[in-house]
Amino acid sequence: MNDPKAIIVFGPPGSGKTTLAKYLADKFNLVHYDTGQRIEKYIKNPDNLRTVSGKKEKKLFLHGDLLPAYMVLGMVFKDLKRIAGYGDGVVLSGSPRTEEEAIRLIPFLEKLFGKPNLLFIGLKVSAGESIKRNSERLICSVCGASPINLPKGNTTCPICLGKLEKRGLDKPEIIGVRLKEYKEKTEPVFAGYKKEGFKFIALDAAPPPYKIFQTAVRKIKAA
Ligand SMILES: [Zn+2]
Repeated sequence: MNDPKAIIVFGPPGSGKTTLAKYLADKFNLVHYDTGQRIEKYIKNPDNLRTVSGKKEKKLFLHGDLLPAYMVLGMVFKDLKRIAGYGDGVVLSGSPRTEEEAIRLIPFLEKLFGKPNLLFIGLKVSAGESIKRNSERLICSVCGASPINLPKGNTTCPICLGKLEKRGLDKPEIIGVRLKEYKEKTEPVFAGYKKEGFKFIALDAAPPPYKIFQTAVRKIKAA
């Protein structure tokens, strides 16, 4: 395919889907939309916590549970409509997370961008590797980069020199919950789309990010 208009990157926590999505957005001139980051922003906004539902959502979020679909999708739909309204395409990471979301989100994307312009990319990584990567992961508090292979004790972002910190979501007790949610609720959803004739690429998440990116670009062009 020439220029995808909507790429859906999925994979377990720690598979590198956010990084790949960012690279692909640059490469194909698309907007990167990461649902996890969008929710984190929403949860951290004190204005949203004055309501009973806002407080409930924060509690679920901090525990590692998935937030209710009505809340997440409402936000995602509004954002996507705006992006498509500007004539831009999108790379999604972190959505859809459940069948309930997929049933509503995928037809919505089809309507916005057209089925032939849609592409799924699935990253594969073992549970052990996912836990290891998540517990070691640091995120830049300024530019959002998640550098790998850093010397031990390094807390400075190699890109912008901002401070690197652990995400609340990457605490060991929370990663287990998130992995289980992914296996049970997210992974089965995507198996169905392959059969429905959507363009679909499976990638091994073990190689370094730049290699995964190169393979992804090659496979997208051949898709
Ligand atoms: Zn940085």
